Amino acid sequence: MATAANVLKPDFQSQKKHFIFTPEHDQLRESIGRFVEKELAPHAEEWEETTFPDSIFPRMGELGFLGLSYPEEYGGQGGDYYCNIVLAEEMAKCNSGGVAMGVAVHTDMATPPVFLFGTEEQKQKYLVPAIKGEKISCLGITEPDAGSDVSGIKTRAVRDGDEYVINGSKTFITNGHRADFIVLVTKTDADAGYDGFTLFLVDMDSPGVIREKRLEKLGMHSSDTALLAFQDVRVPADAVLGEVGKGFYHIMWELQGERLIGAAGCVAGAQRSFDKTLQYALERKAFGREIGHFQAIRHKFAEMATKIETARQMVYTTAWRFQNGEYPVREISMAKLHAARVAVEVADECIQIHGGAGYMKEYGVERVWRDMRLNRIGAGTDEIMLDVIGRSYGL
Ligand SMILES: Cc1cc2nc3c(=O)[nH]c(=O)nc-3n(C[C@H](O)[C@H](O)[C@H](O)COP(=O)(O)OP(=O)(O)OC[C@H]3O[C@@H](n4cnc5c(N)ncnc54)[C@H](O)[C@@H]3O)c2cc1C
Repeated sequence: MATAANVLKPDFQSQKKHFIFTPEHDQLRESIGRFVEKELAPHAEEWEETTFPDSIFPRMGELGFLGLSYPEEYGGQGGDYYCNIVLAEEMAKCNSGGVAMGVAVHTDMATPPVFLFGTEEQKQKYLVPAIKGEKISCLGITEPDAGSDVSGIKTRAVRDGDEYVINGSKTFITNGHRADFIVLVTKTDADAGYDGFTLFLVDMDSPGVIREKRLEKLGMHSSDTALLAFQDVRVPADAVLGEVGKGFYHIMWELQGERLIGAAGCVAGAQRSFDKTLQYALERKAFGREIGHFQAIRHKFAEMATKIETARQMVYTTAWRFQNGEYPVREISMAKLHAARVAVEVADECIQIHGGAGYMKEYGVERVWRDMRLNRIGAGTDEIMLDVIGRSYGL
């Protein structure tokens, strides 16, 4: 029976971690967080103008952050998938979506297919130096005429003796200017439908690879985004990654990890923006009191916090399924859709709460909005996520 001594009080300060995380994850979180706040965050403004330097990769490789869940035999840390979630969350502290994205493309988008589908030789040639940060990677799916509809790509790889000859172009490629190699999606058999796609590992200094244009963007300014051309690029037959003809299925698998890690980044970015804005609302005064104490503003925080928490729970539960051997495409699509929307809604509301200051660069919340806006488009748009979810019910 409740007594005055043991009556339960709400515990708003509880820092209890989610069940997927162990004390080892906490230690990892602390060390990544320390690095990000000390070595990345102070340069956020500068890198918006210049893009971030390549040296981030060898530095993060040296610290062991680029291969958290890869086996130790390849130079990784041998951790679980939750370590990648921790990395994505802590990277939000660098205050620059572009840096977080450039690193995530390397750790969670371009290198996972090398690990899963690569031959031992390919792992030694690409994965090992990528984990050290000595080779930077990028991923080439999107083309000027085909984004959402991956099956519509036109880049062709044609067998010629012991080689393949690749022609085509890729656009919006993150890390495209700095990358040493690309995981490239091509068509090898135009008549074979979904069984006509093949992935290749292509060195970016191969003759015929042209880094055509540095693309300018709404946000993510610190990342580099490239338009690439492939003109009669000759690669040996052993540059095929995975199975010839199975590239479509391989890249659909890759996209699941990309979407889930993106969702984790969205939650972390939204939380960071929330925290900053909360602090502002407790300091900024209007009509004789802190703006956070107006009910209208208080409710905005309540809405935002609830949205962030739902997205976080979806990400963690889905990560738990992923880690435990499921292939939860529906849930990943839901988590990606929801987290991206939440991140944009929260960023927008944070600008509103800041008033005019929110529109100014100085306060950083406008950048969060610009950076986060990409998440409703990249790695599969909201509309494509809805379609995947809808189709999963047999519709
Ligand atoms: C900054 C940035 C970085 C990126 N990085 C990379 C990268 O590293 N590698 C890479 O390969 N790609 C990258 N992308 C590409 C990104 O994944 C694509 O932009 C995205 O998948 C959408 O493709 P699209 O731009 O061709 O849009 P489209 O496919 O042309 O879509 C246009 C609109 O039509 C809608 N639409 C399309 N099909 C349907 C449908 N069936 N039902 C309903 N609506 C539909 C879309 O939702 C969208 O609203 C990046 C993009 C950006 C902006």
